[in-house]
Amino acid sequence: MNHAQLTALGRALRVLGEHGDALTADAPDAKLHEVRTDLKRALELLEDSVTTAAPSTRCAEHPNGPVDENAPDLCLLCETRRRAARRAEINGPSARPRSTEPTPSRYGVREDRPQPQQRWLPEQWTGQEWQLCGTPRRDRHEAELYINAQRRGPRAAMAYRLVHEFTDYEVLRVWGTPVRVDIEPLGNL
Ligand SMILES: [Zn+2]
Repeated sequence: MNHAQLTALGRALRVLGEHGDALTADAPDAKLHEVRTDLKRALELLEDSVTTAAPSTRCAEHPNGPVDENAPDLCLLCETRRRAARRAEINGPSARPRSTEPTPSRYGVREDRPQPQQRWLPEQWTGQEWQLCGTPRRDRHEAELYINAQRRGPRAAMAYRLVHEFTDYEVLRVWGTPVRVDIEPLGNL
């Protein structure tokens, strides 16, 4: 906003203030039309003065970035970053960098980013990290039944958990206690 715009806008807004002070119940229509004209004029001046789009988030870093309605600052970019940090905290330092040791499951370890379709992932604690222990399910109940069956099996793991995969991963439920177990050196079995 340059100085001329500032002066004009200030004057227009003060005029509106005067209208407000003078307003009474018996104000004639002619007066109301005058207020309307002055209001429009002030709005035009304001629109001329504003050069950027209204911020879509309350984030100082990404004021016009994508919106996440559930984020405290409405910023999807920062919320995604915060979620990743929380996830790393939940998974523990063992999650990354990844162990190069062969893992006992043929399903491997979950990818960093989920697929756009929602799925429920059964995971087991290997003693080192959480690992996918069955086919991802389209149905939560089915995934829970699967985990319960695994827990009753003869070679049940120390702990299981159910992870919801959609646009992010969310741990829904944990069975057992995942305790870090040292890897036994080869030949010592
Ligand atoms: Zn942000």
